[in-house]
Amino acid sequence: MKATIVTLPGDGIGPEVTAAAVKVLRTVAERWGFQVTVWEYPVGGASIDRFGVPLTDETLEICRRADAVLLGAVGGPEWDDLPQQLKPEAALLALRRELGVYANIRPVKVFPTLAGASSLKTKIIRGTDFVVVRELTGGIYFGQPRGLQTERGWNTMVYRRREVERIARLAFRMALERRRKVTSVDKANVLEVSRFWREVVNDVARDFPEVTLEHMYVDNAAMQLVMNPRQFDVILTGNMFGDILSDIGGAVSGSLGLLPSASLGDSGALYEPVHGSAPDIAGKKVANPIAAIASVALMFTHTFKVPEAAAVIQQAIEHTLAEGYCTPDIAFPGAKTVSTDDMVQLILHQIENIQEERKSGVII
Ligand code: NAD
Repeated sequence: MKATIVTLPGDGIGPEVTAAAVKVLRTVAERWGFQVTVWEYPVGGASIDRFGVPLTDETLEICRRADAVLLGAVGGPEWDDLPQQLKPEAALLALRRELGVYANIRPVKVFPTLAGASSLKTKIIRGTDFVVVRELTGGIYFGQPRGLQTERGWNTMVYRRREVERIARLAFRMALERRRKVTSVDKANVLEVSRFWREVVNDVARDFPEVTLEHMYVDNAAMQLVMNPRQFDVILTGNMFGDILSDIGGAVSGSLGLLPSASLGDSGALYEPVHGSAPDIAGKKVANPIAAIASVALMFTHTFKVPEAAAVIQQAIEHTLAEGYCTPDIAFPGAKTVSTDDMVQLILHQIENIQEERKSGVII
């Protein structure tokens, strides 16, 4: 199979972690018989410096035509004083909107070796493995009317049946591949829009009798995430609640440097680490490349439809950590701290090992 991937490395540590992810992408694609063509374009501050805008029409058009986009991170203090629509971060919103990616997927898995890196107690988070499915192109961030005056400001939270149905179906399909449980999060005790959300989710659930559905109010969900995160499998929620809950989820796992994401639409797909451009460590060769590499694993699952290849990448990451290697952000007692490049080489080495074991018939 042939595939075209556009990489948008961006700013700060973006280029460092994207280069790492592309190495893994090429290695695994080759092993699984994919011919991958990679095109690289500037985005964010890098694009502002070259072209005066955070995202050019040409880059956007190439992204639309690609099978998937892999983004590093954008932003940095040198562009902070620009007007909102010219800031590096404006590129992210434009990309999501123009690619029609309505579902943001953030898996949160606590690696056994790193359970101590979380700010929560190890006994609470050990074994945590859930995914937040957040609606990305509707809800209060986009509803009309909206406005800002001296004496009042207002936004509107609207969800249409079509919007809720498509994200709910995606969440239920995902649950079928996991532990078959969906927790739909809303504020139906107060908001009509949430009661509507709940009704549509109940309708969709009828097509998935094998999946257990529970509803949870968002305030309770925030508490449950830090009290008992192991109870969750797939968390389905709207745009604003998802924004907040996925960050809490991130905190559970320890470091931002570990968290990948996928934003999916009917045809477009955008993969990116959850973290930003981390200007404080840019160029120091200490950035953790795992979030970007795990984003490539999501690409193998959702764009290439080869979950087995994704599992190889995921296992390679876990083995590397289990052998005690880490970047400084996730350093734990007794660990061997390595650079970004070394971490990538170690993960690539594990990928080779796992592939060899597979060839020789060792079950993994
Ligand atoms: P950040 O995620 O860049 O950094 C927060 C902290 O986490 C920093 O201490 C950083 O060193 C650390 N960190 C982040 N990723 C890491 C990694 N891979 N390895 C090791 N440590 C890592 O968030 P911030 O400091 O609030 O924002 C910096 C810039 O990034 C801002 O301009 C912001 O707007 C932008 N930003 C971009 C995105 C994106 O591109 N998707 C997301 C968030 C923030």
